[in-house]
Amino acid sequence: MKLHNSNAEIFVPDGVTTENALSRSTHMGFGAHQDDIEILGFHGILECMNTPGNWFTAVTCTDGAGSPRTGRYTAYSNEQMQEVRWQEQRNAAMIGRFSAAVQLKHPSSEIRAPKNTSVLDDFRNILSQANPTVIYTHNLADKHDTHLGVVLKLITALRELPHEKRPKKVYGVEIWRGLDWMPDDAKIILDVSGADHTAAALLGAYDSQIAGGKRYDLATMGRWRANTTYFDGYSVDKVQLTSFAMDLSPLIMKSTLDIVDYAAEYINKFRNDVIDRLHKQIVQ
Ligand SMILES: [Zn+2]
Repeated sequence: MKLHNSNAEIFVPDGVTTENALSRSTHMGFGAHQDDIEILGFHGILECMNTPGNWFTAVTCTDGAGSPRTGRYTAYSNEQMQEVRWQEQRNAAMIGRFSAAVQLKHPSSEIRAPKNTSVLDDFRNILSQANPTVIYTHNLADKHDTHLGVVLKLITALRELPHEKRPKKVYGVEIWRGLDWMPDDAKIILDVSGADHTAAALLGAYDSQIAGGKRYDLATMGRWRANTTYFDGYSVDKVQLTSFAMDLSPLIMKSTLDIVDYAAEYINKFRNDVIDRLHKQIVQ
């Protein structure tokens, strides 16, 4: 398959052809950076590890350049650091038994550029060979612009597909901003319990990101724990870990839905909820 960058890669842990690896994928994750998909797509990774016939494929968009480095990575050049991050993504694909790990290796600036088409073209090519039922990606309220670039370009690519080829579910999952604020009845609640060791192994694969003092492994699992406990004050926790997502499926099914209005509606509901609760108890 033709991808835009000459160094783009499709790593297939079990060695089947890339065509095979993409066409068998039932679940896919589209993320900006090496390490994003193991967070936003963990639910899908588990679904595939636990169900014969299901396969997870990760599509990582950035080239891994410009990442912070401290500790034992301080002396690494940009190129050496990129190699480390690409290898960490391949290692995670092995641990999570992915069907494939695609690394597109675009500069972040291209992903964030509204009119850039090279990332979009790669998405089009990948989706012409894959027919996933479920897709996990970044959510529309994420505060990292490169994450937003990925989800917006992905929505464009998915809307171009014939209706019968569009995935049934597209989830925008939390990373750089939690989704606890979303109205409870609008939250997609992804149960990621019962596999702490797998999560620890997948998140821990990204040593270069964690070693410098950003404990993404602890923070992610801590957020999943907090999501569960603080979701409902009136019942005991039935599951242990939950990840929250924004349902992006309506935007894919109905191409005319305005993306900004769609995100703003959730924010308006949150705003109204805060204001209504205060009004109820403040003497006018
Ligand atoms: Zn990221």
